[in-house]
Amino acid sequence: MSLFLYNTLTRKKEIFVPTKEEVGIYSCGPTVYNKVHIGNWRAFVFADLLRRFLEYKGYKVNHIMNITDVDDKTIRSSISKNMSLKEFTEYYTKVFFEGRDILNILPATKYTKATDYIKEMLIMIEDLLNKGFAYKAKDGSIYFDIRKYGDYGNLSNFKLKDLKENADNRLKKDEYEKENAEDFALWKKWTEEDGQNFWNPSDILEKDSEIEKGRPGWHIECSVMSTKNLGDTFDIHTGGVDLIFPHHENEIAQSRCSVGGDFARYFVHNEHLLVDGQKMSKSLGNFYTLEDLIEKNIDPISFRMWLYGSSYSTRVNFTEEAVKSNMVALNRLRDFVISLGSDIGNINLDYKNKFIEALDNNLESSKALAVLWDLVKDKTLENKDKLATIFDFDRVLGFGLDKIEKKEIPEEIIKIAEERRLVRENKDWAKSDELRNKIKELGYDIKDTENGFVLNKVLN
Ligand SMILES: [Zn+2]
Repeated sequence: MSLFLYNTLTRKKEIFVPTKEEVGIYSCGPTVYNKVHIGNWRAFVFADLLRRFLEYKGYKVNHIMNITDVDDKTIRSSISKNMSLKEFTEYYTKVFFEGRDILNILPATKYTKATDYIKEMLIMIEDLLNKGFAYKAKDGSIYFDIRKYGDYGNLSNFKLKDLKENADNRLKKDEYEKENAEDFALWKKWTEEDGQNFWNPSDILEKDSEIEKGRPGWHIECSVMSTKNLGDTFDIHTGGVDLIFPHHENEIAQSRCSVGGDFARYFVHNEHLLVDGQKMSKSLGNFYTLEDLIEKNIDPISFRMWLYGSSYSTRVNFTEEAVKSNMVALNRLRDFVISLGSDIGNINLDYKNKFIEALDNNLESSKALAVLWDLVKDKTLENKDKLATIFDFDRVLGFGLDKIEKKEIPEEIIKIAEERRLVRENKDWAKSDELRNKIKELGYDIKDTENGFVLNKVLN
């Protein structure tokens, strides 16, 4: 059984054939200037699912994820907070790792910090200058000449000939739209706005360099960290669709023109996450971080389960209700696992094959989940074999089912039950029924006895 992935480079589902025994994956990681929002987490959960599934299929995986600790946003934000760039980005890197662990995302094989690769970036930029793909502009910054790279625009399906002929148009910003595609900055000459954040190329390279004091552009960071760790040709590059242009387009141009090779052979992009039908933005008040979910009593793992309900390559619309209904399902699954006891039998191969078949088809996680629920409902299997099979699936799904402990009835449920007892004393039967339904929605059953109420978890 072979894995098929939708490759943005060719715009079709392709069979995945690794270049060498060890699969190399590069994932664009977080820019550590604030708490990562749930749209970013979708990308990281997706990369984790892909990596887990490859390992499940027996591949050895070398997963590299970068930490962007220098770019426009980190510099601007650290200065406004009156903190050094290092101190500021280290704080948000720590917050990111905490979130990763909460979501049960496996640590990448290696995390690479952009500021640890400045010398390698300068070497690549000099190489691009020497080969004629880059030039120094009047503003003292170094730009990549997109017209010199014939395949520019192939990934994002963007035609260079549609570009306005305006040789003086260059973009120093890290992020911009396709309509503004122009030569982009590889190295930005220091300006006052950068404060103390700059590097001296001649010192670092220990020779005279035409590159002036300044800092790298965002795109060169990923070109350097991916090829240095995975080689000039590697297997899979992941990221959100918002990174296709300009970021990944520019990564390809820089890498192919400098180190040669194919760069990534498969670009796999996850789609956007909308909130209440709209793009997340702070001004709309629909901006959620993982910490916000926790504050709303949403179990982060149920967010993971909710994500699996749709293909990574379709847009999803986050609503609190949708994720909370997954929380009920997740709690039922956990209780079910507990009810199976502790004997671990044999993995059921019929279910395993169906599970693999679903994921082999471009990681159809919703179908894989359906296989899991079918297994849960199956009355013909022995408990110990069910448990073995569920734990086996969880190596890919990452719900952490092997770590759950038998829990007491949550305080929230007891509180509602207490409230119900009081309304019953006042003979408010309508309210009593309403509260019973609320308890039921949260996955519990309430019975009234002579000695008061009894709460039970609803098992499937
Ligand atoms: Zn990147």
